[in-house]
Amino acid sequence: GAKSIGKNNYHYYTKSMRDAALKRMTLISDLRHAIENEELFIVYQPIVEMHNGYCTKAEALIRWQHPVHGVIGPLEFIPVAEETGLIIDISNWVFSQVCRDVRHWRKTLCPTLQLSINTSPIHYTDPDRCITQWLDTLLETRTPPQAILLEITENLLMDANQSVSTKLFQFRQAGVDIALDDFGTGYSSISYLKKYPTDILKIDKSFVHSMSEVSNDKVLCEAIIVMAKKLGIKVVAEGIETEEQRNILQKMGCEYGQGYLFAKPLKYQDFDALLKRQKQDELACLAH
Ligand code: C2E
Ligand code: MG
Ligand code: MG
Ligand code: MG
Repeated sequence: GAKSIGKNNYHYYTKSMRDAALKRMTLISDLRHAIENEELFIVYQPIVEMHNGYCTKAEALIRWQHPVHGVIGPLEFIPVAEETGLIIDISNWVFSQVCRDVRHWRKTLCPTLQLSINTSPIHYTDPDRCITQWLDTLLETRTPPQAILLEITENLLMDANQSVSTKLFQFRQAGVDIALDDFGTGYSSISYLKKYPTDILKIDKSFVHSMSEVSNDKVLCEAIIVMAKKLGIKVVAEGIETEEQRNILQKMGCEYGQGYLFAKPLKYQDFDALLKRQKQDELACLAH
C-alpha cells in the first residue's frame, strides 16, 4: 500500500542524500586543489558585430579539467564555489588571466579588443574583497580599464543593497564597462536599468531561442532593443544558433551577437588563431 511505498522512498532518499553529500564534499576538496594544480582554464567566446561578423569582444568562460571526470562546466562547480567562498580565489585568478590575455592581444592582434568577465554576488557584497583587488590589478598590470567588461546578473541585483551600486559606480568611474547579463530572465529587469549603471545589455539565449515560436518573445526582443538604444545602451544577443535568428535580430537593430552560429567558446590558441585570421583579412582589405 501507500504506506510501504512511502517507507521505501524514505530509505531511498536518505541513501541518495548521503551520496549527494559525499559527492559534494569530494567536489569541494577537488575544487580546492584545482586552483593550485592549475586545472582551471579559460575559453573565449567571440562576440561579433552583427553587420560584418567582426570580433572585437569575447566572453571569458571558465572550465575545469578534472583529472578523473574530464572537462567540467561552470554550471556544475560555480554554485559550490560561491557557497564555499572558493569563488574569491577562482575569480581573482580569472581576473588576472584575462588582464594578461587582453593586454597581449591588444598589443599584437586587436587594439580595441574587450574581454568580459562574469561576476558573482559575493564580489560586490563582501566588503572590498574583490573590487579593490581588481582595481589594483588593473593599475599594477597597466591594463586599460576599457579593455574589461564586467558581467552582472539580475539575481545578483535582486537582493542588492547600496554597497552594490556604489561598487559598480567605482568600477565604472575607473573606466570599466558594465554589462547586464541574462537580461529578461528575472522579475524586474527594467527597474535595474534605472538603478544601476549599464553600458551593455545581454539578451538571454532563452529569448533568442523562442523568438520564432513565441511571437510575444519576438515583440519583447524588439522592444528591449529599442528601449536600450534610447537609453544609449548597446545590445548583445546571446545564444544565436541560426541565420534566421541572426537576421531577425539584425533587422531589429541589435549591434552584437554571440552564439554557436559565429563560434563556440574557444581555447586560447584557437581564439588567437581567429584574431590572426581577422587581422590578415583586414590588411588584405586595406591593400585592395
Ligand atoms: P552566461 O554568462 O550566460 O554564458 C553564456 C553561456 O551560454 C555559456 O555557457 C556559453 O557556452 C553558452 N552558449 C554560448 N553560445 C551558445 C549557443 O549558441 N547556444 C547555447 N545553447 N548555448 C550557448 P557556459 O560556458 O556553460 O557557462 C554557463 C554560465 O556559468 C555562464 O552563463 C556564467 O553565468 C557562468 N560562468 C562562466 N564562467 C564564469 C566565471 O569565470 N565566473 C563566474 N562567476 N561565473 C561564470
Ligand atoms: Mg555571461
Ligand atoms: Mg549570459
Ligand atoms: Mg545566459
